Amino acid sequence: MNLKRISSVLAAGILFATIAAVSVFGQDGYSRDTTQPIDQDYTKKIAEYTTEKFFNSPLTDYLPASPNVPTPQTVIGDIAGAPGKLPYAEDVYKYMRMLEKATPRVKVFSIGTTEEGREMIAVAVASESLLAKLDENRARLAKLADPRTINLDDAEADRLVEQSFPIYYITGTIHSPETGAPTALMELAYRLAVDDSPYIKSIRDNMVTLITPVVEVDGRDRMVDVYKWHLAHPNENYPNLIYWGHYVAHDNNRDAMAMSLKLTKNVLNTYVSWKAQVLHDLHESVAYLYDNTVGDQPYNAWLDPILTDEWQMIGWKNVSEMTKFGMPGVFTHGTFDTWSPGYLMFIAATHNGISRLYETFGNGGADTLTRTLSPDEYQRTWYKQNPPLPRARWSQRNNNNYEQTAILVSLDYFNKNQKLFLKNFYLKSKRSVEKPKNEGPAAYVFPADDPRLGNQAALLRILQGQACEVHRATAPFTVTMKKKPAPRGGPAARGGNPAAAASPARTPETEQRTFPAGSYIVRMDQPYSRIADALLDYQYWSPRDPQQSVYDDTGWTFGELGNLQVVRVTDVKVLDAAMEKVNGDVHSPGGVAGSGTVFIVNDNADNDLVTLRYRLRRASFEAAEEPFEAAGKKFNRGSFIIRNALLDEVNKATAELGVPAFAVAAAPTVKTHPIKAARVAIMHTWLSTQDEGWWRLAFDQAGIPYDYISTQDVARETDLNKKYDVIVFGPGGGNNNAVIQGRPMYGNALPWKKTELTPNLGGFAATDDMRPGLGWNGLMNLQNFVKNGGVFIGSDESADFAVSMGMTPGVSIQRPTRLRAIGDVLKTRMIDAASPIAYGYGDTLSVYCFQGPIFNISNVAGGGGGGRRTPGQAPPRTTGRGSADDPDVVQGRPPAEVPEPSPATEIWEAAPVNEEQRRNLVGLIPPAQRPRVVLRWGNANELLVSGLLDGGDEIAQHAAVIDSPLDRGHVVLFAMNPFWRGQTSGSYSLVFNTILSFDNLNAGRKLDEK
Ligand SMILES: [Zn+2]
Repeated sequence: MNLKRISSVLAAGILFATIAAVSVFGQDGYSRDTTQPIDQDYTKKIAEYTTEKFFNSPLTDYLPASPNVPTPQTVIGDIAGAPGKLPYAEDVYKYMRMLEKATPRVKVFSIGTTEEGREMIAVAVASESLLAKLDENRARLAKLADPRTINLDDAEADRLVEQSFPIYYITGTIHSPETGAPTALMELAYRLAVDDSPYIKSIRDNMVTLITPVVEVDGRDRMVDVYKWHLAHPNENYPNLIYWGHYVAHDNNRDAMAMSLKLTKNVLNTYVSWKAQVLHDLHESVAYLYDNTVGDQPYNAWLDPILTDEWQMIGWKNVSEMTKFGMPGVFTHGTFDTWSPGYLMFIAATHNGISRLYETFGNGGADTLTRTLSPDEYQRTWYKQNPPLPRARWSQRNNNNYEQTAILVSLDYFNKNQKLFLKNFYLKSKRSVEKPKNEGPAAYVFPADDPRLGNQAALLRILQGQACEVHRATAPFTVTMKKKPAPRGGPAARGGNPAAAASPARTPETEQRTFPAGSYIVRMDQPYSRIADALLDYQYWSPRDPQQSVYDDTGWTFGELGNLQVVRVTDVKVLDAAMEKVNGDVHSPGGVAGSGTVFIVNDNADNDLVTLRYRLRRASFEAAEEPFEAAGKKFNRGSFIIRNALLDEVNKATAELGVPAFAVAAAPTVKTHPIKAARVAIMHTWLSTQDEGWWRLAFDQAGIPYDYISTQDVARETDLNKKYDVIVFGPGGGNNNAVIQGRPMYGNALPWKKTELTPNLGGFAATDDMRPGLGWNGLMNLQNFVKNGGVFIGSDESADFAVSMGMTPGVSIQRPTRLRAIGDVLKTRMIDAASPIAYGYGDTLSVYCFQGPIFNISNVAGGGGGGRRTPGQAPPRTTGRGSADDPDVVQGRPPAEVPEPSPATEIWEAAPVNEEQRRNLVGLIPPAQRPRVVLRWGNANELLVSGLLDGGDEIAQHAAVIDSPLDRGHVVLFAMNPFWRGQTSGSYSLVFNTILSFDNLNAGRKLDEK
């Protein structure tokens, strides 16, 4: 790009802006109250910090003055969006509370705390008279939100709509490096409280704007620390924000399904309890304002079409008005698909409101920078007629101008059409209640005879957290079900083949199904049926979908990922079953039955079992290596036999955890091995901690104590066995080379630690320099740890790491060429149920897969040896006498005896090594050291459970979970991610089992003869 071209583009932009600026005064609806004085000093600074006139609008190019209400300057020390200024959350709150003191138009509410104990707030701005009527208004909105309370009476709804005022909820800076929203929202609160422009006065007098200025509070404070470090060391490289929240980084905006994080729960509770109509989340990544709610296909399939129309209305209004202001780079279509319901703003979409999201342009701090865009960002497209400039000076103030202008336009439009949107809010709620008789289903049933009642209760609690009602059947009930068609098969059936999926359905036969009393029922005739339906249903993303760039996960079916039976029932008779509403959290039955000093707990792969082990630390636990019967009951392999524990403590722990225990006088005679409370470390890199955070979260929820160590700690510690039994290395910590090398050592050290300047860094993970990696010494320490009896657990990238670094003789990875498994639910099958890793599991398990590594198994270290022959495949014969299965006969000599062909092997097995190959085969792995396959991927025609799968035959039948011995220890490899976004609770126990039996993983193993 030559300079001449840039300057001509810039000049054109300026010219256009000048023309626009003139017409602005004629633009309807945004005129100012000319009698209200302006804060001259503040207004001057707005102009000064805005890099081009056309990066502002007449809505935000001034600040009205107030004799008694303080401006953001009081706290920030400069205006909102000023260069070099990033307030901590605490300062933002301080300002909001100053507003609350200074004007009756602002009220601050505490809405909970973060994982690290920091406060979250919501700030309501409206006229004094509206704020005085919050409670009575909420009572009316509650009726619109739950139309059952007014018997779905539209006339009554119209009366309520007339009397009610709506709530528009805005949330800022969930993504910590996206730093602009807090100051924009401070200033916005001021404007809404003070400005007497007719349109703002109307917003204030007729609706409530609710603001959570900082969603990720822990991450905000860390980000401000990093920025302060940067200001204090202006000529040095600065540490990147390795931790945002306590657990995860950008995935804090993928938590709206399982709601594992406190920020999600706090925002959801606020949204639902305020009965808000809109949830509008502010992000920064795209130049200059992408109102991404209109986005691109495919739309989430469980949404009410009324909502998708609302997206269009509000989105296009944003584009249209800001285009008229002459602000470049405002658009609403784009590459973001709204398939996944995991985003924070989607809480509104799945709870009958309106979800909205802005991506504005941020500099990752408050520096003013020259920003150069790529052609795909600045080129004009059909939905971006006034695209951003190829190159421009950009300031945080610009960002604040765009954010506020767009929000004010939206608030104004929403306010002017508020009766329509309130009525829509009621209609969407009503249509959710009417789901059973319209699109269905009628209910989801969680059978009382599910073997995993603990995990079942955990999933039901997620639904309760989503504000769904859960009922429990008080008597058995019978419904009519469609018979399941036989799985697709035949040679044409390949995983994810659309032709196979779209084969015409025959008229399904029906059958009766009876569910026992105590089964849970999630009725679909309730206001928040949509979120339950979206979570529990199956997803199908066609490989031929026009959308080829997938934004996020494509499948998430919660019953499958929870290893649970969840039955979709369309028969409306289910709603007549005898049932009662569950008040309080769903809890699985637990406690001790019977008498005796030995306690038996069945292993059903419920996640509470590992918790029990650590809760009763001093008791002695053993696991049965075979199924057995005791106390008149059948117990699975892996069941606990507990001794040296008091009845009271066992009873208390099992009752609290919802785990049934049986006291018996004498232990059953069954082969067992001890289950010790393993000493666990979770290892992280200093490159990325986003994905491993989900592992830590699950370990914390399960009450598994662990040391959180970095690759640098492992590099220093030559005797890891002294401290740990199990080292867990979660996925996503960087590519294999980077894990070893760390970051390049050019330039200055990058500290991540608590200092006076950076009080929020360090803590649970600290280093003087983030750059060094594991190093070759660290790798040696890690390998010695395993060789001396330790267990190393790796998944996806970290499994690849273990394989690539030679820690898993006999395991190799095949690189995919066609596979597209984009955040799917895929099926696995049990291969070795006697492995302790498999305890409590059944024949199949659905797991989360994102392009999981394709493992191959060999009996020869370093590869080679063994030709594979797949079952059903006859050995080839050459041209000769006889029929196709006859042997040829050499003429003129007696027929030679042909040795038996080597037995056929499956894809997940190692091919046997024949005598010829065995001769002087130095790499031949002794039988006890060979990889042991526990689970394998399903067959191609059954592999896809939910989501997008193409080329699934590439991974089908390959090993999915491998226990790979290395001398005295084990490396356990997962081709899936067992801990993902709190959604995969059904696969947690594969890892928990590994930890519980860390020193007996060879239990139940059958060795090859040679
Ligand atoms: Zn973001």
